[in-house]
Amino acid sequence: MLSDVEYEIVHQISGAKIKRNVEELCKIAPDRFVGTEGDKKAIEYVKARFEELGLEIRETPIHVPSWQETKPPVIRIMATGEELEGISASFAVSTPVGGLTADLVLVRDGKDQDYEGKDVSGKIVVLTEESLGFSKFWMGTYVDRAARNGAVGVILIHPMPWPYRISMEAGNSVIANRFCEKKVPAVCISGIEGLKLMHAIGRGDTKIHFETSNRIEPCDSIVISAFHQGTEFPEQRIAFVGHRDNANTPGANDNGTGTGTILELARVLSKTAPKRSFEFISSTAEEGVTEGIWQYIEAHKEELKRNMKAVLDTDMVGVGGVPIQVDMGYWPDAKPQQHPKWLLDMVDSVAEEMGYGFGRITCEWGYPEEGRFNAIGVPSTVLWQPDDPYYHSIYDTPDHLNPGSIKAVADTYAIVAWRLANK
Ligand SMILES: [Zn+2]
Repeated sequence: MLSDVEYEIVHQISGAKIKRNVEELCKIAPDRFVGTEGDKKAIEYVKARFEELGLEIRETPIHVPSWQETKPPVIRIMATGEELEGISASFAVSTPVGGLTADLVLVRDGKDQDYEGKDVSGKIVVLTEESLGFSKFWMGTYVDRAARNGAVGVILIHPMPWPYRISMEAGNSVIANRFCEKKVPAVCISGIEGLKLMHAIGRGDTKIHFETSNRIEPCDSIVISAFHQGTEFPEQRIAFVGHRDNANTPGANDNGTGTGTILELARVLSKTAPKRSFEFISSTAEEGVTEGIWQYIEAHKEELKRNMKAVLDTDMVGVGGVPIQVDMGYWPDAKPQQHPKWLLDMVDSVAEEMGYGFGRITCEWGYPEEGRFNAIGVPSTVLWQPDDPYYHSIYDTPDHLNPGSIKAVADTYAIVAWRLANK
């Protein structure tokens, strides 16, 4: 049963307020990929909100690659002049200025065997998804393979009616293995535009004009921490983390909801007097393989191992099915990670106590920021709705958010953290 203090905490937390936080963040900083102008505005916004609450702020500098699509891609079928809409993969390179003209070749799945007997030299390969999902997200190895076979560009057809932001990363956990060696421009187009492209290929109109314009450069940014001090063991603490960057798409769900949630938890929990401290972490450079939080952990590793009792990550909790926790997680270049059973069970039982219910998932394509804490032995979990159909698209807007689902996550985390802080 909830204690009086716990009941009051849950009573104070508002899903509607979290949604308003997200609306504000998306308005102030619609593009907040790490290192952009939007990132700076998002930093100001988050810091100002923490300062209003009188929380002590610490900044951890990070140095990571930034990326921006400076112009939308041009994909023009030469025979008809028809133009197709697409978006570049994050961290994708540009075509030469003025673009290039080349033939399309359908390579479908894009594995080694799919290139057998095909001449893609000087051509643009077209890849498809076999199912209605996000299976081709980490494009690094696919693009590397296309480039090694001599291709000059890659177009991925996504099954949804809108394109989504794929990534040029390899999908590895080790930061040194983040990118593949060979790169060519890569874009994603929707299923609808894909049908037009397939028609063109079928007719034999395979020549297209292709132009992409992106900027990749190293950048500096910060991970923001706000502290609410504990009364008895202030050096020991429980943290909440939410990444504030997006994928150069509005990012209301991914991860306005995480940012909005930590701001709301800070507002409510800063009025309480826990025995251990709370840390509210606004990370960035999550997009991709979570390099931002990795650098934060590298900077504070020994201290975190000593004093951080648990980390609760919130990533995409406003759209889709039931929020889930990652149970087993896999990266191709890391040991399988069993997430801490006691913490996952505690989250589930607190949720159940309040009449909520979450799920579990085995993650085979990498997992969010919580995994970086588990990797150094700091118990961590994530609540996540990975099945958002608008993921990394222009439709990831605040009007799709469900405040009820977000409140369930915030309530549960608040009580889990409160109990751990006072144990
Ligand atoms: Zn995210």
